[in-house]
Amino acid sequence: MSTTRHTRLLIIGSGPAGYTAAVYASRAMLSPILVQGIEPGGQLTTTTEVENWPGDTEVQGPDLMVRMEGHARAMGTEIVSDIITSLDVTQRPFTAKGDSGTTYTCDAVILATGARAKWLGLPSEDKFKGFGVSACATCDGFFYRGAEIVVVGGGNTAVEEALFLTNFASKVTLIHRRDTLRAEKIMQDRLLKHPKIVPLWHHEIAEVIGTENPQGVEAVRARDVRSGAITEIPCKGVFVAIGHAPASELVADVLETHHGGYVKVEPGTTRTSIPGVFAAGDLTDHVYRQAVTSAGMGCMAALDAERFLAAQEVNLQAAE
Ligand code: FAD
Ligand code: NAP
Repeated sequence: MSTTRHTRLLIIGSGPAGYTAAVYASRAMLSPILVQGIEPGGQLTTTTEVENWPGDTEVQGPDLMVRMEGHARAMGTEIVSDIITSLDVTQRPFTAKGDSGTTYTCDAVILATGARAKWLGLPSEDKFKGFGVSACATCDGFFYRGAEIVVVGGGNTAVEEALFLTNFASKVTLIHRRDTLRAEKIMQDRLLKHPKIVPLWHHEIAEVIGTENPQGVEAVRARDVRSGAITEIPCKGVFVAIGHAPASELVADVLETHHGGYVKVEPGTTRTSIPGVFAAGDLTDHVYRQAVTSAGMGCMAALDAERFLAAQEVNLQAAE
């Protein structure tokens, strides 16, 4: 049965930005509802060790997110397992429809929908997704014990995934389209010293090759971006780690975005182009995209929302 629920503040997303916003908003007595989405805990649930969360020399990503969820609940946030399928911020109260059939109305909303893995866009990649092609080493690495694996990308994610996959694989080939990595230096050092990892510079994947029955990957055809020459690399798994795109589809038509879909906020705030709509975390950030910066923006969004709601109330009282 469909129900409608009203809350002063709706938080969409359960990554570091959403949970931090929830902690602050709850402590401001706003009684927020937080909708978790398809990936409760966000991107950090797809990794293992996190070594740059202040206060923890090393913490497992999924553990950190369970703790953040617990923290938000303990402060009084109502956490709902649902996915927002549409959001109308053109009139107040704002209306969000959930996949569960619930409609949420709210006086202010914090968007913290983060980012999602990008894919290469090859038909052969699509064909073998879930059958050897993956974007999550922590989820799928275990299936490739003793096998040869290919990782594509040159950022922190690709380097982390390649290092993690050495726990299972006999060999990991890191294919990168340039000869310089974007990843942090400490990660680059670990990668380049690892005996199981072989970088293949200046290459991109032209095609994933495999069998139909059973469906599975056998190799990739890698193209030298300088000469066009093709090299076939045998492998059972292909991990695509070429970055993330902002999950802004709920609001892309109504809010100002920039740099390929990142929601634009007023500098130094989390205010978007519509009053009462705030955005935090990777959804707004094409530069830093870290757990700690997302959490920081979640805090800012809750404080901005609190001030917005307080001003609304003052205006209402004055009108009465
Ligand atoms: P996300 O973590 O992306 O969370 C987005 C949330 O929004 C999810 O809960 C999702 O379910 C929800 N959502 C999306 N759409 C909807 C919808 N329609 N309805 C409801 N909910 C929705 N950063 C570090 O600082 N240190 C690290 O070691 C580190 N390691 C990483 C390893 C990997 C493999 C990856 C992919 C990223 C890593 N990062 C790391 C980056 C870090 O994870 C992100 O910067 C951070 O998670 C962004 O937080 P966020 O809250 O903005 O969004
Ligand atoms: P990223 O930093 O944007 O790097 C993406 C990589 O993929 C780049 O090397 C890029 O190549 C390559 N690439 C992009 N499109 C490609 C394509 N079509 N074909 C082939 N290669 C392609 O993304 P990320 O590594 O996912 O990191 C995202 C954010 O999360 C970053 O801010 C990162 O710091 C953060 N993160 C942090 C940690 C950590 O702190 N330990 C771990 C993971 C992620 P070019 O270099 O040539 O552009």
